[in-house]
Amino acid sequence: MRTDNLSINLATVRQQWNLREAVEACARHGIMAVDPWRDQVAAIGLDESVRAIKDAGVRVTGYCRGGMFPAPDAAGRQAALDDNKRAIDEAAALGSECLVLVVGGLPKASRDMAEARKMVADGIAAVLPHARACKMPLAIEPLHPMYAADRACVNTLGQALDLCDLLGEGTGVAIDTYHVWWDPDLAAQIARAGKAKRILGYHICDWLVPTKDMLLDRGMMGDGVIDLPRVRGMIEKAGYTGHTEVEIFSAADWWKRPGDEVLRTCIERFNSVC
Ligand code: ZN
Repeated sequence: MRTDNLSINLATVRQQWNLREAVEACARHGIMAVDPWRDQVAAIGLDESVRAIKDAGVRVTGYCRGGMFPAPDAAGRQAALDDNKRAIDEAAALGSECLVLVVGGLPKASRDMAEARKMVADGIAAVLPHARACKMPLAIEPLHPMYAADRACVNTLGQALDLCDLLGEGTGVAIDTYHVWWDPDLAAQIARAGKAKRILGYHICDWLVPTKDMLLDRGMMGDGVIDLPRVRGMIEKAGYTGHTEVEIFSAADWWKRPGDEVLRTCIERFNSVC
């Protein structure tokens, strides 16, 4: 079975393994690309994470995550900028191909989405010179609108691409099927992203019906209602040849299974469904 161009977002096995164990397991299964999270790196330390990735010989197709720009006051917004610059430095140390941005939602006690979205644009603009200097592309990931209040006020691919148009060089998008599958404008926006060479990542999982938890009930590919072959077709037509990254947060199911079973299933479904 093919594993080339397959990447595992390490959140998928976060309950089973630490970062070193996870990258070793991926390599054992022939999966030679990963996307770690900052807390996973912090848990064993940046230097040890860099060593583990080098030892296993895996590529780092993304680093999760920067963002969370909106804040109620200037000090909060500045703290976010400082933290994003650290995330960029860590991503560079890990040899990541991009830093994924979950941009943040409404500041505390605010109902002003327009203002939150302006804070996001201003925040990315403020860290972009540092990202460019580090040659670290920033992958804006639009999130499903159910997260607009607390995680990301960028909710469609079109909106993320408008931000890229505004901000320019060094920005792109991470397209996650979980967040964008419902969008009636998806095909046109993926084509637009491809034409502008802005697709920095392609994340897959499935949408379960019913979804029992807004955050931690993502499905394995093939177990839900997303037409993954159709989205794959759009992505390929857009000229994207990079990795496909499996990203599954699943507190009640996949996080409870042995890590090797999860990886085996990811490979099987990547081949049969995606
Ligand atoms: Zn994602």
